[in-house]
Order: sequence, then C-alpha cells, then structure tokens
Amino acid sequence: MQAAPRTHDVVIIGAGSAGYAAACTVRDLGCDAALVDTGPLGGLCILRGCMPSKALLASSDALADARESKQLGICARAVDADMEFIAARKRFLVSEFADYRIDGIERFPLYRGSASFLSPNRIAVGDSALVDAPKFIVATGSKIAPAALDGLDQAGYLDSDRVLELEHVPKSVIVLGGGYTACELGQFLARLGAGTTMLIRGRHLLTQSDDDVGSALTRYFEEDGIPVLSETRLLGVEKRGDAKVVRFERYGDEREVAADEIFYALGRSANSSELALENAGVECDQGGAIRVDATLRTSNPAIYAVGDVTGGQMLVHVAIYQGEVAARNACTDAYERADYRLVGAHTLFTDPQVAAVGMGEKELRRDRVPYVSARYDFAEHGKAQCLAKTKGFVKMMAHRITGKILGACVIGPQGSELIHEVIVAMNFDATVDQFMRIPHLHPTLAEIWTYPAEACAAQLGVKAPGDEQVELSTSVAGAAHE
Ligand SMILES: Cc1cc2nc3c(=O)[nH]c(=O)nc-3n(C[C@H](O)[C@H](O)[C@H](O)COP(=O)(O)OP(=O)(O)OC[C@H]3O[C@@H](n4cnc5c(N)ncnc54)[C@H](O)[C@@H]3O)c2cc1C
Repeated sequence: MQAAPRTHDVVIIGAGSAGYAAACTVRDLGCDAALVDTGPLGGLCILRGCMPSKALLASSDALADARESKQLGICARAVDADMEFIAARKRFLVSEFADYRIDGIERFPLYRGSASFLSPNRIAVGDSALVDAPKFIVATGSKIAPAALDGLDQAGYLDSDRVLELEHVPKSVIVLGGGYTACELGQFLARLGAGTTMLIRGRHLLTQSDDDVGSALTRYFEEDGIPVLSETRLLGVEKRGDAKVVRFERYGDEREVAADEIFYALGRSANSSELALENAGVECDQGGAIRVDATLRTSNPAIYAVGDVTGGQMLVHVAIYQGEVAARNACTDAYERADYRLVGAHTLFTDPQVAAVGMGEKELRRDRVPYVSARYDFAEHGKAQCLAKTKGFVKMMAHRITGKILGACVIGPQGSELIHEVIVAMNFDATVDQFMRIPHLHPTLAEIWTYPAEACAAQLGVKAPGDEQVELSTSVAGAAHE
C-alpha cells in the first residue's frame, strides 16, 4: 500500500553527478531537496565510468612507462601486469569513492526505487511512495546503446561495464568504435596484452576532434601495434568455433577480422524510457534524450533535465554544471542560461592524452570566424625531450581582429592537466598577447603554450616581450584563416 504523498520544494530524480550537484545547490539555496534513485547509489562516474576506467589506465600507463624506461637508461627486466591485482585495486578505489558519495546522498531525504511521473507535480517511486513537488529535476543518466549489429547478441560481446569488470585479459579483441571509451579501454586492453584491432566508421579516431588531432592519435595507436581500420561499414558478426568474426566492408571490398572477444563501444543513449514523461508533458527526441532549452527547462517549464539524459556532451563536469544551473533556476526563477564556451572543454585519458577547449578549427571554419592558429610539437620542446615524452603537439587559435584566444587543443604528455592553463586564460578572455606575457617556469611542459601564443601574436603583428624580433622556432607552424 502506498503511503500519503510527501512534498518537497524540488525533487531530483537520479543521484549521479548531475543529480547530486543539483541537490547540493538546492540545499545551499535554503530550499528542501529530495533525491530519488533506483540504486546502486554512486552514479556512473564512480561505479562504471570515469573512476574505474582511470584506475585501470593508471596501471597500463605505468606498464608502458616501465617498458619504455630504457630510453632513460633504466633496465626494467620482465615487466608484467597482474590483472587480478589491478582489478582488486580498482574495486577498492570504487568502493571508497562510492561510500563517500553515498554518505553525501543519504544526508538528503532519499526515495529508493524507480521514479515515474503520474502528473506534472507527482511521481510514483516503485510501488511504495508518492512524492509531490512544484519543481522536478530529471537526472537519470544514460545507458549503453543496444547493439545494432547482425549476429552480435548471439556471438556475445563485452560492453564498457564488462571491460571494467574483467579479471583476465582476453588474448585478442576487436574494438568497434573510435570514441572516448573505445580509445581508452581499447588501449588498456592492448597494453595488458590483448591483440587489439579497432574498426571505425570515420577516417580517424575521435571524429569530433580536429583532423590533425584525431589523425595523430590514430598514428600513435598504429605505431603501438593497434591496427585502426578506418572507413569501415560493419556488416555482421558470427561465431566460428571459439572465434568471433566481424564482417565489414572497406573501400568496396568485403573483409573480416577474427578475435576471442568483441568490445562494442558504439555509444550510449539517454535513460528516459521508464519515466512516463508523457504524463508530465516532457518531450524527448527520437533517441530518448530529453529536450531542454538554454536554462535546462524541458517542454514543461516546471521540470528541468540535466546530465547524460539530455543527450549532449556526456561528461561529468558538464553534468555537474547543468545540475547547478538547473537548481539555481528551479529555486530562484533566475532564467540563468548555461554557457558551454568553457564547459565544453574535454579530455581523453589515452597515452598520449588529448584535450581541447573552446572552438576547434573545424568549428571556426564552419562558422567563418576569422582566426590565426599556430602549433608546436612536443618533439621540439626541451622538457618533453628530458622526460622522453615527445609525442604530440599543442595548438592555439586566436581571433584575427581581437587577438582573443578562441580555442586550444593538446595531444601529448599530461594533456588533461595542461589544457587547464588555457581554460583559465579563456575564462578571463585573454588575448594571445596577454597570454604570452604570463611568466612560465622553466623547464616545464606548461611553457610549451607560449610558443603557439607567440606565433599567433606575431601573425597579429604583436612582438614577443623583451624581443624586438620574435624568434620563432621553425617547428612553429602558424597560419591565418579567413
Ligand atoms: C567507461 C566510461 C568512462 C567515462 N569516463 C569519463 C571521464 O573520464 N570523464 C568524464 O567527464 N566523463 C566520463 N564518462 C561519462 C560520465 O561518467 C557521465 O557523463 C556522467 O557520469 C553522467 O552523470 P549523470 O548524473 O548524468 O548520470 P548518472 O551518473 O548515470 O546518474 C543517473 C542516476 O539516475 C538513476 N536512475 C536512472 N533511472 C532512474 C529512475 N527511473 N528513477 C530513479 N533513479 C533513476 C541511476 O541509478 C543513477 O544513479 C565516462 C563514461 C563511461 C561509461
């Protein structure tokens, strides 16, 4: 039997990164927030996303470093990985992170069960509770997109959840997909000893990135012994004995590749189908992503949606930011609009790492923004040479008239850390001229940014500090674009 409905100022459905951030913001604003979650509590990032994957990658990075350490005069004989230990370490970390988060979640009124709307102001939580609120924030995340490939279900396959749970590495694996999860976990499996082949639709990995970045990562993977078969069209999968065979078309020819396992990494879709959103007047797109405006309101203005369920950039810092904006709007009717200029920054924890902020060259060309750009290779950079980490480059783009930094990207050592310097500069609307005058310690990886900044400034007619003549290394490739 259901108890009488309970009422809160704002009810947040989903206690992952987006929902928890929203609940904390609502509470900070002095309103009464309640959370609803089916469990397990902790959210994707902690349980099956960022944290377990980064724990695993720390081990495969250390393995690669040990193997490459002869470049530094270190003889590491018989370097090997202990997958059972790696898996146990990951489990321990995840349970520590989850315990901490659950402690935070349980400080709110918490309803355990699956929420579905009965009306715009009322939800049922499983069979046990009715909860009313004038405002709701939906933060139910995403799920692994169903495998849409002939024969795949019958043959069996790994998805990201299962890769994160592996206790033993398969002898060989075919990775379907070339996005973030495919690249990170594909490289992990390869480094731990799985013969790994990647099949992708695009011309290079990371099709959303600038071509020079995606092509460079593809080349590094291939140099590392991971064949990347680009421009393929998947036809189907079949089981032959113990092997799983993927059939595909490439340049007009039908071909196949066989392995012990298939890692299906072709994306995630919004998790909204259980919510009975039609009872609340909330509209979704065809894939189930909840439609929101710039203030994170859905088609019902009293209901907000945030995080992966909105189908945008599926990243934790985006989910948290949206949760906070929606919470402020729900509590204060502030009509604050989400601004993705910097929040759209992203990173990929492969080796070398990839990161970007602001607009890439693809977008600048598409939007016909007049800009200058310059890039500098880690191979030419002293500190990178000292560290023997010379793969990759940094690139900066600036407005041709104002000199403001419009975007930057890095593929290289510590890329996920290095990008923050440009995020901070762009946060303060810095020009390349201002950027190149910021003191940089020597020798550091961070000082590499000064080279493209100086090269951009030179194209804009600005001289480097203390220099009558800007001395630019020949490896600084700069270009002006209409
Ligand atoms: C392998 C992998 C690695 C990743 N690595 C990174 C990374 O390095 N950096 C990064 O920024 N992002 C990464 N991500 C993405 C990131 O994890 C997600 O973008 C983020 O966690 C989404 O947060 P969310 O709050 O929108 O959803 P979630 O964290 O999924 O939260 C949704 C919550 O809603 C609950 N729920 C669902 N349906 C209902 C219902 N009907 N009723 C009640 N509760 C419900 C669920 O139980 C869950 O707790 C990774 C993802 C994967 C899969």
